[in-house]
Amino acid sequence: MGLFGGRKTVFVDADILVIGGGMAGCGATYESRYWGRDLKIVCVEKANIERSGAVAQGLYAINCYMGMQWGENQPEDHVRYARNDLMGLVREDLGYDIARHVDGTVHKFEEWGLPMMKDPKTGRYQREGKWQIMIHGESYKPIVAEAARKAATEVYNRIMVTHLLMDESKPNRVAGAVGFNVRTGDFHVFRAKAVIVAAGGASHIFKPRAVGEGMGRTWYAPWSSGSCYALPIQVGAKMTQMENRIVLTRFKDGYGPVGAYFLHLKTYTQNGLGEEYEKRWVEDTRALVGEYIDHHPVPTCLRNHALLKELAAGRGPIRMVTKEAFQDPHKETVGWENFLGMTIGQAVVWASQNIDPKHVNPELTTSEPYVMGSHATCSGAWASGPEDYAPAEYQWGYNRMMTVDGLFGAGDTIGGTAHKFSSGSFTEGRIAAKAAVKYVMEKGRDQPQVSEKEYRDLEKLIYQPLENYRVGRNEIVAGTVSPSYLLPIHGLQRLEKIMDEYAGGISTNYMTNGVLLNRGLELLTMLKEDMSNMGAEDLHQLQRTWELHHRLLASESVTHHTLFREETRWPGYYYRGDHMKLDDKNWHCFTLSRYDRSTGKWAMEKAPVYHIID
Ligand SMILES: Cc1cc2nc3c(=O)[nH]c(=O)nc-3n(C[C@H](O)[C@H](O)[C@H](O)COP(=O)(O)OP(=O)(O)OC[C@H]3O[C@@H](n4cnc5c(N)ncnc54)[C@H](O)[C@@H]3O)c2cc1C
Repeated sequence: MGLFGGRKTVFVDADILVIGGGMAGCGATYESRYWGRDLKIVCVEKANIERSGAVAQGLYAINCYMGMQWGENQPEDHVRYARNDLMGLVREDLGYDIARHVDGTVHKFEEWGLPMMKDPKTGRYQREGKWQIMIHGESYKPIVAEAARKAATEVYNRIMVTHLLMDESKPNRVAGAVGFNVRTGDFHVFRAKAVIVAAGGASHIFKPRAVGEGMGRTWYAPWSSGSCYALPIQVGAKMTQMENRIVLTRFKDGYGPVGAYFLHLKTYTQNGLGEEYEKRWVEDTRALVGEYIDHHPVPTCLRNHALLKELAAGRGPIRMVTKEAFQDPHKETVGWENFLGMTIGQAVVWASQNIDPKHVNPELTTSEPYVMGSHATCSGAWASGPEDYAPAEYQWGYNRMMTVDGLFGAGDTIGGTAHKFSSGSFTEGRIAAKAAVKYVMEKGRDQPQVSEKEYRDLEKLIYQPLENYRVGRNEIVAGTVSPSYLLPIHGLQRLEKIMDEYAGGISTNYMTNGVLLNRGLELLTMLKEDMSNMGAEDLHQLQRTWELHHRLLASESVTHHTLFREETRWPGYYYRGDHMKLDDKNWHCFTLSRYDRSTGKWAMEKAPVYHIID
């Protein structure tokens, strides 16, 4: 079949449509079947759920496990921990809801065959830190995917979802989604009674440190394209805390994780002169954020801040002291296995740069910013909370339902709930699915209707870049630069440069201000105008085009939120140069946005933070 003709339209009807088969999507698919025995459960994924999402390569630790069976931690403890790390601002109702259920999820993983490391003395799961347990997790994702595959009525792999569909008669009710098969080019129309978005976070919206041929080497998965934000934003769902991008301190050039090194191997950091430096910056940090610097553990962003200050003072590079720990053969093994199970690239980088951590202390650096909802950060959709626990203002229907009727989310998609990680994301998928099943049951025959015009219009829009390329290609005889189309890679680099220079990326040392952000928004608007001229050579480039659309909308949201919050809440993640201090009096609140697709305008507002746990 040619690319430009003979394209099939495939219609799929579902009770519940899960978009994205990563950790949260697999959790949602699995749990939908548990509560909805006779329902049609469909999971749609742009890659293949067997090895898709941020956990594709495997993990070495499950970072969210309470250990309630052994009295190790209680859900309240986890809420306090996440609240502290996010400088006071988390949705405590949502966080508590995940924490009280997450242990059950982890026990299922073990039952399904995930090899857990056990403490030989106690028989308990081997702790890496207070919240982390260690696993032999190279096959973590295939194990989780198997459970989802068995639960789903159908799994559609290799379908890039581009837009949600809305009910013909009720303007704020979701009715399904459309997308295309990245291998065959077929157009897919999914009609569903409830939709759960679980499409991962966003990398590559800020210019990465690794550019050119190395640009695929980012910390967060390079295929996390912000769809989890763009899909709900397009249909008017409210978003929260989108300014709360995350910057990670990681091993230089390979982005290898440092958690096991700090927590299990007990390694520590030094400046280029071999000195401890964090304490040196305590008073400086106190001047910005007050008593938050005295909290224990020190919030992640503030540790970044000390590192950045030390580098700016000319005492780099910052190094992880591994030479001592690696003299112990057990620790040396753990140090290497940690990478081999989840970030092989770091081991390869060290080999290529002649770094043996037994003899050389490797360098650390801070990453470019990422947008996500499940790590030490909490950007995402504004969701209704659990009936038994959420304050009235956080409840408008079903648990994890967004401000669009019938539209649910989990994992990186949902805002306000940091530190859920892989296990918490799967758990949140389960929570969202239970509520979505209830929603479908209670709606009964009241089903959304999809208009043919809506999906046919979208079809034209989706495939237009192939046509732009076909026509425009004839205007040039050689090379790739055309006067009439823009390639996805060019658009991506333009986006990354705008976000980097105007919204607080690496080249400005994470610094921005109102003037820069406003200019950034103007440039993003111009890029948006040019997006109708995208040219896609093939289906792969068509996917890149739609990923760019999603990244662009997510970026716009980040920039509006950053402009709205007139304080520096998370120094070390980003700085508002015109409002350098944390301002609890005016900004101890959530920021909310809503995009109106008919006008292209964003409306911003504040929402209160309720502290439910002392
Ligand atoms: C480098 C790194 C290290 C980490 N380390 C740990 C750790 O040690 N321990 C731990 O517990 N957690 C860890 N995490 C966190 C964990 O991976 C995430 O919290 C979790 O994967 C988030 O789940 P999710 O379902 O929201 O996103 P994902 O698991 O990324 O799933 C999103 C899915 O959506 C699909 N998708 C995206 N867009 C579309 C679209 N438009 N159409 C269709 N499908 C789409 C993707 O292909 C993907 O399968 C780490 C993450 C990273 C990146």
